[in-house]
Amino acid sequence: MLSKEVVELSKQHSVIRDIFEYGMKRAKEVGAENVFDFSIGNPSVPAPKEIDKTALRLLKTSDPVDIHGYTSNAGVLEVRENIAKSLNRRFDTNYTAANIFMTIGAAAALGICFKTLVDGPEDDIITFAPHFPEYAVYAQGAGCKLRVISADTKAFQINFEELEETISEHTKAILINSPNNPSGVVYSRETIEKLAALLEKKQKEYGHSIYIISDEPYREIAYDGFEVPYVPHFYDNTLVAYSFSKSLSLPGERVGYIVAPNEAEDFDNLLPAFIASARLLSYVCVPTLYQKVVGECVDLTSDLSIYQKNKDLFYNALVDMGYECVEPGGAFYLFPKALEEDANAFCEKAKEYDLLIVPGDSFGCPGYVRISYCVPTERIEKALPLFKKLIDDYRK
Ligand code: PLP
Repeated sequence: MLSKEVVELSKQHSVIRDIFEYGMKRAKEVGAENVFDFSIGNPSVPAPKEIDKTALRLLKTSDPVDIHGYTSNAGVLEVRENIAKSLNRRFDTNYTAANIFMTIGAAAALGICFKTLVDGPEDDIITFAPHFPEYAVYAQGAGCKLRVISADTKAFQINFEELEETISEHTKAILINSPNNPSGVVYSRETIEKLAALLEKKQKEYGHSIYIISDEPYREIAYDGFEVPYVPHFYDNTLVAYSFSKSLSLPGERVGYIVAPNEAEDFDNLLPAFIASARLLSYVCVPTLYQKVVGECVDLTSDLSIYQKNKDLFYNALVDMGYECVEPGGAFYLFPKALEEDANAFCEKAKEYDLLIVPGDSFGCPGYVRISYCVPTERIEKALPLFKKLIDDYRK
């Protein structure tokens, strides 16, 4: 008697989770120190100490009815004001609380953006391979199609030719994610400018707005020499989906937000529309305590320097060994080419050395593998000789 759609989805198990579970089982057999799990993207550095201090102070000093109570639909006013001021300092914008809508992480931010823009099953949202696998589920939840543009495997920027062919009168939004999960690549200023110019042209052609939804949970994890362009500066109809899951290492607290810039065509209706979409999806009321905590800690991040260290170590070593990989500009993933055509077979071969990595098929990009390096540096140091053995096996 269950919904067919839900039963169908429940059967599609997550390859990443399967590998993670396998790693735990294997650790029991050979010892955790001998299993090199690079499968999952969970922050490996703790939240700043100020987070717990602030949470404890708020719990001790606030009216309990207030701190455990519902907030207004768009979120706590002072928190939204603080986020707006922080963005103004960083990006030279003029935001107020009216531009910020609090969400239950980036997941809900995306679900709400999709729901807000999509009118029916014939509508589509376009994204680019490789992409976060849950995008397909969010699109399904919003009742629209997710169209995926094939990867530009040279640089993991945008395959513009295919994008231009794919945009149609049914396209409601282009979903981008930079720094990217799984490639780690940051879209260049040139890429964003080219995307903006194409969408301006297409908006005129079809006579309706086409939004960019910029999914930015990894914005703060950007490496030396890489700049993450602030997309609303380039294109008015942009919605930014942000999350504190990675920047403050708070994925379990479920706090994020959407930025709706004043310049967006539908600005006057956007906030009420987000409220309506959140209600439709039952994503109401972001946890009050942690809204207030991030509101006070909005300019902080966890110590993200370990990701830079891990990336430098891992990327340079793999490339020196002969692996083909585009240099990540941010996030905490490498996305090298598998050493045989079938990335699944390659990951099985890597398993023989207890190296646990994820086939790119899960991200819409067969032939590549994702390696998460949000792990202790020693794990990478110990795994490198095994990656060398692995590539040597293929050279025999
Ligand atoms: N978007 C991307 C690209 C992600 O990698 C993730 C989580 O890993 C999310 C969205 C969801 O983030 P959140 O935990 O804030 O819901």
